[in-house]
Amino acid sequence: MYITAAAVMVLGGTLIFWLMRNRKQGKPTHSHSDIAGGAVTEASKTIIPRDHHPISRKHISDNALKVVNRLNSQGHEAYLVGGCVRDLYLDLRPKDFDVATSASPEEVRGLFRNSRLIGRRFKLVHVLFGREMIEVATFRANHENHHGQEKSHHSDSGRILRDNVYGTMEDDAMRRDFTVNALYYDSRDFTVVDFCRGEDDIRTGTLRLIGDPVTRYHEDPVRMIRAIRFAAKLDFTIAPETEQPIFELGHLLRDIPSARLFDEVLKLLQSGNGVRTFELLRQYQLFAPLFPATEHCLNDQALNNQGDDVQSLIIESLKSTDRRIRQNRPVTPAFLFAALLWAPMKALSRDLMEQGLPPVPALQQSAMTVIGNQCNHTAIPKRFSMMVRDIWDLQGRLERRQPKQIDILLEHPKFRAAYDFLVLREQAGEDLSGAGKWWTEIQEVDEHGRVSMIRGLTAKGAPKSGNKRRRRRRKPRSEQQPGVSE
Ligand code: ATP
Ligand code: MG
Repeated sequence: MYITAAAVMVLGGTLIFWLMRNRKQGKPTHSHSDIAGGAVTEASKTIIPRDHHPISRKHISDNALKVVNRLNSQGHEAYLVGGCVRDLYLDLRPKDFDVATSASPEEVRGLFRNSRLIGRRFKLVHVLFGREMIEVATFRANHENHHGQEKSHHSDSGRILRDNVYGTMEDDAMRRDFTVNALYYDSRDFTVVDFCRGEDDIRTGTLRLIGDPVTRYHEDPVRMIRAIRFAAKLDFTIAPETEQPIFELGHLLRDIPSARLFDEVLKLLQSGNGVRTFELLRQYQLFAPLFPATEHCLNDQALNNQGDDVQSLIIESLKSTDRRIRQNRPVTPAFLFAALLWAPMKALSRDLMEQGLPPVPALQQSAMTVIGNQCNHTAIPKRFSMMVRDIWDLQGRLERRQPKQIDILLEHPKFRAAYDFLVLREQAGEDLSGAGKWWTEIQEVDEHGRVSMIRGLTAKGAPKSGNKRRRRRRKPRSEQQPGVSE
């Protein structure tokens, strides 16, 4: 009797909890498993009340709330959406705050003096508050539902070329990439609106593409690298049906404009999780379409046996970048590209020297070719490619240490970056006869010490024999300073 009463109470409690969790409007809730083999293909609206989610207003940008409230007060629907809601759920600090609204871009523009209309592929409004920018997008619809309409346009491979089909909030949720990126925060009643069971996926740490994964990757292949980025950043697992097509579809990235891929590469590798992201990119065979020449070197056994540990330099540069980002110090794409393309540049310059070209012109020609080829995959804006070349050009001079060159090199505007790169190469295992340590020391000693260090070099730059003992007393690698400095 008691057992039956207790069982009824437990069952009743569970039912009430379930009903509260699933207070829905409209269609019934589906579990992932009963929809198209785990893919979310149909919206099912769930409203999560304030006491069932962890998002607190005090962690939301005041400016984002101002934008949402203003739109609401003018009779428009407006919500915070995307990465900011996801990150607040996970107790992370959002990078930025995005707003989705029923108002048209022109209506939004009309409501905020401090705003501008941007974009052709996607029309958006940026509302500016000093250094903070709130991005406001009008609810958009999925393309499948709007074939033949003028405002949406696909390439032959199914890639979306233009995307200005407006729709309902539900449409807007379904055209987003991952379920965890399709949660909406309503600042009027502090609820979270979930159409794709994104909250379940947040709780289990799952990245799940909305809709049919193959179609969604064809529509926008960048979603494959976004999957890797979020898996690394959030330490989430990619759902099987979302991960499986990636192995076959990486080649689609070759159709993406190289300027967009440059931006994506920076988001991938300069967001504080570079090492993990690099490992995942390789695991999912997405590094090859982004950096084909580097991938070739990574797989070239002969090259790795020649003492060029291709992977170590890349990992060291990413570790150093991750560390700097954690310390809120600046990072430059030039440094990253110098490391990523170092192996192909060296391999080609070695070939050119074997064909009889002297070292300096061989390096210059090889640098030009390797950077030029890479630009067919990811653009490298001129200011960065010039800096990559400076970093590489200076390596030989830093290694040689010719006495007359020392002061000139110390004054060189790119000395700092080139020196950091030299240290990184040493940390990655290249034998540079202690050049990195020598340049570290010469920056630390006083004038007298500096003169005596320069005197200690032979005319050709190699340290005189007396210096050999000092080199042997090198600190173990783990004790050395980080390879990059301000
Ligand atoms: P981050 O923390 O990097 O800003 P995010 O999720 O906010 O992550 P954004 O690039 O700022 O990423 O995009 C904002 C939102 O827009 C995403 O959360 C997602 O809902 C949607 N989105 C962005 N890119 C795509 C895409 N390629 N396909 C579908 N939806 C996308
Ligand atoms: Mg964002």
